[in-house]
This record gives sequence, structure tokens and C-alpha cells, in this order.
Amino acid sequence: MTDQTPPADALPSPAIVAIDGPAGSGKSSVSKQVARRLGFGYLDTGAAYRALAWHALEHGVDTADEASVLRVADDFDYAISLDPDAYWVRVGRHDVTAAIREPRVTDAVSGVARVPAVREAVNALFRALVAASGRPGVVVEGRDITTVVAPDAPVRILLTAAPEVRAARRSAEVTTQDAATVAAALHRRDASDSAVVDFLTAAPGVDVVDSTHLDFEQTVDAVLDVIRRARPANADDPAPTGARNGR
Ligand code: C5P
Repeated sequence: MTDQTPPADALPSPAIVAIDGPAGSGKSSVSKQVARRLGFGYLDTGAAYRALAWHALEHGVDTADEASVLRVADDFDYAISLDPDAYWVRVGRHDVTAAIREPRVTDAVSGVARVPAVREAVNALFRALVAASGRPGVVVEGRDITTVVAPDAPVRILLTAAPEVRAARRSAEVTTQDAATVAAALHRRDASDSAVVDFLTAAPGVDVVDSTHLDFEQTVDAVLDVIRRARPANADDPAPTGARNGR
């Protein structure tokens, strides 16, 4: 039987909605819901860094040691679902969807995210996943989507919230640690992550949505408003994309 699948380059490019922001801004849950409302795919880019950190820990590797991280990155077999209603993350034959949220992984993740070769490799993967999504568009969320992964995306948003609000939201999610421990870990991670990419200030042309005083549905609506304003002709049709392979 011959393969009828056209090469990825021949497929129409999905529209990208790029959403960056710090931990606890509501980025993941809001991005997922926005994707559902638009019939788009949803790509959680932080999951790749988390899964690589999990993989490194499984191999007993110190994630602060760049050479060791690069060594385990060589046999990193990663897969992620772009379906907002069926989210999963796999490394090899392991389903790591829950494991990558454990505090030991969260504490180790900034170490792998600091390695430039890792960033280049996962960024190429993100662009390939978007191109092959088969969806009219993909909501891509992370720290450097508006600036590095898809700087030409037709919609680019920085989702922010006051630090104390982000810490409170995160501690409501993490039930295995007390609020002060969760807040300290979040601020530590913000500090080390922002030394690598600036996700606390908006790059030129990026719209800011501040969720400090908004509940979940209000934040989703605020993001959808930005998308409608950016794509006024027909908000539900794919717009010209910022996704390109090999950039
Ligand atoms: O978004 P999440 O908290 O799951 O991201 C986990 C980690 O992955 C971040 O703390 C950061 O170190 C890294 N990350 C990144 N660039 C992205 C997404 C995540 O450096 N685009």
C-alpha cells in the first residue's frame, strides 16, 4: 500500500496563537480552554522541558550539570498530545503526564531549560508538531513562544498576574506541600527561568492580559477578545501562520 499522506510542507500551515507567561498565571488551563473554544490544538511546551528533567532524574543525572543533561537528551524519546480534551505526555513507553508535575521534577526543570542545545532541539520539535497537527490552528503556550518559537504568530499574548496571586493559585494545585514552600519554589523558579528568557515583560507587539483580578472564565474571554481583535475578518478561520519548519 502506498502512503497517501502529503509531506508536512504541502499541508496548510496552522495558525498559531502564542501565549507566554510565568507559572501560576493560568496559562495552561486558559490556553487549553481557548483551544477548545476555537477547535484548535493545544501545545504545552513546558511539558517537553519537564519530561526531559524527568528522564534525567530517572537516569540519576544532576540537571545542574549541562554535559550530563546533553548526554541523556540523546536518547530522549518524547511524545505529546495536542488534543485539549485528551492531554498526555510520554517518554518512551512511560506515560509521564502526572509524574512531570511532581515537585522533584519542577525543582529540576530550570536546569535542563538553561541548556541552549536543548532549547534549539525542543523548539524545532514544537514547530514540527504544530505543522503536523492537522488542526486549523494551535494554541502554543510557554515562556518564549511570542519571542523565539513563533515570533511571527498572528496572535501573541503575555498572560501575567501579580506574584502573590500566582503563588496562591499554584499552592491550590499542589496539595503535597504547604503554601509557603510552594510560593518559595515558584519564586525561585521564576528567578532562574527569567535569567534565560524574559517572560515577565511583553516584547513589542505582544498583547498583555493581566489575570490578577480575573477569574478563569473572564481570563479565557479576555484572551479570546485579543484573538478576535487580531483576526477580525473571521475569527474562526485559520489566519496566516507564524509556524515554519526549521527556524
Ligand atoms: O510551564 P511550565 O511551568 O510547565 O514549564 C516548566 C519549565 O519549563 C519552566 O519552569 C521553564 O524552565 C521551562 N520552559 C521554558 N520555555 C518554555 C516553556 C517552559 O524554558 N517555552
